[in-house]
Amino acid sequence: MPQPRLMLVVTGDDFGYCPRRNQGIVDCFQAGGISNVSLLVNACAAREAADLAKRHNIPIGLHANLSEGIPTCQSLQQASTLINHSGFFHGKVGFRQALERGQLSMKQVEQELRAQVRLFRELTGHLPHHMDGHQHVHVLPVERGLHSCPWLPAHLQRFYTQVEKDALDSIPVFTRYGIRWPDVYLGLTTMGQNMSIPNLQRALNHALAAVSSGTTSSSASGCNKPVVTAELMVHPGYPSHPQEGGCGEGPDEFSQSADRQHELSMLRDPSLLALYSQKRVQLCAFKDL
Ligand SMILES: [Zn+2]
Repeated sequence: MPQPRLMLVVTGDDFGYCPRRNQGIVDCFQAGGISNVSLLVNACAAREAADLAKRHNIPIGLHANLSEGIPTCQSLQQASTLINHSGFFHGKVGFRQALERGQLSMKQVEQELRAQVRLFRELTGHLPHHMDGHQHVHVLPVERGLHSCPWLPAHLQRFYTQVEKDALDSIPVFTRYGIRWPDVYLGLTTMGQNMSIPNLQRALNHALAAVSSGTTSSSASGCNKPVVTAELMVHPGYPSHPQEGGCGEGPDEFSQSADRQHELSMLRDPSLLALYSQKRVQLCAFKDL
């Protein structure tokens, strides 16, 4: 049986976070290391990012954000269930907790998401080609077998396992509303310093193997599809300057760390680009699927 062909969307996330992130993402795109970007519309360099996407023809979608910085919708900035007493979103962990406790108004969530789509359209001149969530506020079918990644610290394994569970729970909802998603989602185990060529190779092999064996969420009957779609979420960029970037609270630690630049150099490494062609992996954007 011929090996399935892999269509891979490599998404650079947090576009707009700061000028240094924007520059790193553009450099990575131009080197063929990413094929798609996700825009954080409430981040401080979002307008510049949208202009760069236009100038360099970079396929762009919305990185919906309900966890970091200030809401886009003005009426939710003063008092709403989405923010804490300092006026900021609840944060990655706080958002999940508030959601679990039923403390978030779903009407306000919808209102904010609509405002982000409106601002995206204003900045880019078109509707988003895709939508995903900052810090996994949306849930997606994710990489399986996360438990078998012994190099990950325990707290990360726990967090990723929860994301994986939420993702599986979300499948019926996505199906009901006709939302499409890639066969395989990769990227949780290849973040920051964990990204390496062998690790990326393992993730790609995993994507190809999962579909051949029919264990992906969308290959219902174990059918062997000729084309497999996968998304690899990545975070390339140059480290943020401490005073520059973020969504109103300044840049976080991950943004200032060397991890971003490490991902950037891995993603444009000639041996990775050679691996793509050797494995018949075609980089593309969501609008190509
Ligand atoms: Zn993000």
